[in-house]
Amino acid sequence: MDRRKFVKTAGVAGLAGTAGLLSACGGKAGVSDCAESTAGPAAEAIEWKMVTTWPRDFPGLGTGATHLADLIGKLSNGRLKVKVYGGNELVPPFEVFDAVQRGTAEMGHGGAYYWKGKIPASQFLGGWPFGLTGNEMNGWFYHGGGLEIYHEAYAPSGLIPFPVGNSGTQMGGWVNKEINSVADLNGLKMRIPGVGAEVLKRIGGTPVNIPGAELFTALQSGTIDATEWVGPMNDLAFGLFRAAKYYYYPGWHEPGSALEGIVNAEAWASLAPDLQQIVETACKAASMDMYADFEARNGTALNTLINEHQVELRAFPDEVLDELKRVSFEVLEELAAADEMSGKVWASFKAYFDTIRGWTEIGSQYFLNRR
Ligand code: CA
Repeated sequence: MDRRKFVKTAGVAGLAGTAGLLSACGGKAGVSDCAESTAGPAAEAIEWKMVTTWPRDFPGLGTGATHLADLIGKLSNGRLKVKVYGGNELVPPFEVFDAVQRGTAEMGHGGAYYWKGKIPASQFLGGWPFGLTGNEMNGWFYHGGGLEIYHEAYAPSGLIPFPVGNSGTQMGGWVNKEINSVADLNGLKMRIPGVGAEVLKRIGGTPVNIPGAELFTALQSGTIDATEWVGPMNDLAFGLFRAAKYYYYPGWHEPGSALEGIVNAEAWASLAPDLQQIVETACKAASMDMYADFEARNGTALNTLINEHQVELRAFPDEVLDELKRVSFEVLEELAAADEMSGKVWASFKAYFDTIRGWTEIGSQYFLNRR
């Protein structure tokens, strides 16, 4: 065990005797590291800003950002304090990437696919249509080589990314007419982001991307015919059930969307190794917590939508899903061929997918179909 780790462990456990501390402090770690690690909050705490693409404390996503900042502060015993800024409080939501890159804020919290104009591979890194579930995404990130390739993709931008949450499988969206065939998607004006938008366009629909806060009005006024948002918890909060008759599933376009934390690389390099470990571990803990939050509260919200608001649930017909899947992989292959890093991410995903899907099918899927 290196000395710095010893100091950290001893400090956290509160078991370090004087002799042990002197011994640990005599090495490379240096006096200041010893003082910070063993004497409660540091005299000069490091203060970071975290800008987010979400409204402050928006359910699941915004609360996830706040939870992550709290965790970093508590785990570091106040040595690293992170102040959260909701969308538009310090910078507009879609300027989070630039703000962290130039150091206006040290951290950002958002979704990878928002940055496809900056890093084309980012549109794969939060998940993809007909791809991985939240559980499978976590397997790829943490034990399937995903985190390494994620870092490689963002390194040229001076950013270090971490998964910080997952929405779970989203819903297909709210529509005012029944979708019984592929032809029913023709001319459908729908709010849908990311790769799913391109898929809808090729099938004959008209994808639009408008901010979440404007969805209800756009749907109710007929500016759009349909919208996806997230899942029952967030969709209930926006009152979308008052603006559309049918609630479709599954969310073929976002089967397990991962949320993203980004850290300015220079700010990261300035942290002591134990603080780096704390940030990384807090991101992982926050990621698991957000996923659990979505799972638990989506169940409650779905019951409310069905029983209190008489929402009519509909599954997309197999014929429609088959065509959406065919076109999705056509689009994904084209995107992967157009950019070297995208190709590398896609190759890693496909290799992992080929392995994991067999296990998912005979493990959880077979079981779930019979539960
Ligand atoms: Ca969505």
